[in-house]
Amino acid sequence: MRFYSTNNRQHTADLKTAVLKGLAPDKGLYMPESIPVLDQKFWDWLPGRSMGEIGFEVLKHYFCPDIPEDKFKAMVEDAFNFPIPVVKVDDRISSLELFHGPTLAFKDVGARFLARVMAYFADFGGRPINVLAATSGDTGSAVANGFLGVKNVYVHVLYPSGLVSEIQEKQFTTLGQNVTAYEVDGVFDDCQRTVKEAFMDPKLSTEKVLTSANSINLARFLPQSIYYFHALAQIPRSEWENQVICVPSGNFGDITAGLIAWKMGMPVKRFVAAVNANKVFPEFLKSGIYKPAPSIATIANAMDVGDPSNFARVSELFGGSAEEMKKLISSFSYSDKQIGDTITEVKKRTGYICDPHGAVGYAALRDDLKEGEHGIFLETAHPAKFKATVEKFIGDTVEIPARLQKFMDGTKQSIRIKADFNALQIK
Ligand SMILES: *Cc1c(COP(=O)(O)O)cnc(C)c1O
Repeated sequence: MRFYSTNNRQHTADLKTAVLKGLAPDKGLYMPESIPVLDQKFWDWLPGRSMGEIGFEVLKHYFCPDIPEDKFKAMVEDAFNFPIPVVKVDDRISSLELFHGPTLAFKDVGARFLARVMAYFADFGGRPINVLAATSGDTGSAVANGFLGVKNVYVHVLYPSGLVSEIQEKQFTTLGQNVTAYEVDGVFDDCQRTVKEAFMDPKLSTEKVLTSANSINLARFLPQSIYYFHALAQIPRSEWENQVICVPSGNFGDITAGLIAWKMGMPVKRFVAAVNANKVFPEFLKSGIYKPAPSIATIANAMDVGDPSNFARVSELFGGSAEEMKKLISSFSYSDKQIGDTITEVKKRTGYICDPHGAVGYAALRDDLKEGEHGIFLETAHPAKFKATVEKFIGDTVEIPARLQKFMDGTKQSIRIKADFNALQIK
């Protein structure tokens, strides 16, 4: 399959180019030239299937035969090697727990897959590949761990100084090997801009091989569509059509993946995009005008994004029309106070512990579900990743899983820089 740029449908690239470039030369985002609609046989086959099985059946349409099917199958099985269960929270709302991977956040899914696809293309020898990742917390750890030890690939993680939690920071600053962490003077948007400027620099981009592991890379967001199918695989078929899928959103990569699943025929009722105080998207749905804003720091910090990088993709799927989007997607914004109250209330009533991001998702379903509807929210991170915050709201301790404790015992190594791409040690 070929992939076109959201800035110009005539600008297309093959899989390898699109994956290694990340961003199209005209600065648009790559989209698949066609989105296959899955046939009845697929839906009959789906119930009870694993992530690996579904991943192969769905993603082969985009990645094969550029990657031979047998190799691709092995890559998919290896990338999706942890459970993603649907867990009932109350009568009407369930949680899709995406935090059972190595760094306890959903970004493990996309990052592990992307690392394997890139390693496959990197095997062709030649120059080192530099992966640039701006992170507001979880991308950095998922990408760094996904790529750790992959030959001929160097990972550069940029994060805003003082604005990620200690646990998040430890997950990408303690690894060493092919991973370098840069502590940037600034906020997340400064990190994201620095990465974009590096890509746009004519000298750097011709002399070096640079690519992105942010959700602008199609091999990161496309595999995330798998867990939407996997969620349906776990619930009775009679309930599929009443499901409302709620996605806590920041850069909107995750919900884009859900919308791709929907375009492929996933028979759910509708989507909710839940956001924190950064509310460009709900305001866009209201006014039809897209107005990026500086990001606001919140307790759901992985969603502190003032100009969602995947907005262009969401828009593309609906021909740029807010009216069309509104038929399928609603969107709500929650303050830190509301997020905290939700964590407290859900724990007290049901015993379930939400992390601050999942709490935004729960709150939006609680407020928006109509008669007869059921909701699944994406629980995008383990509450222990935001231990201090969550404990304050539940008045109890959150246990730290062993794989997280391992990171906490490591020593932080990072390079302090200004928001300037010249400070990056590109290979
Ligand atoms: C990245 C992240 C999000 C937001 O996902 P997007 O794809 O950027 O919309 C939500 N929750 C957590 C925990 C995250 O790490």
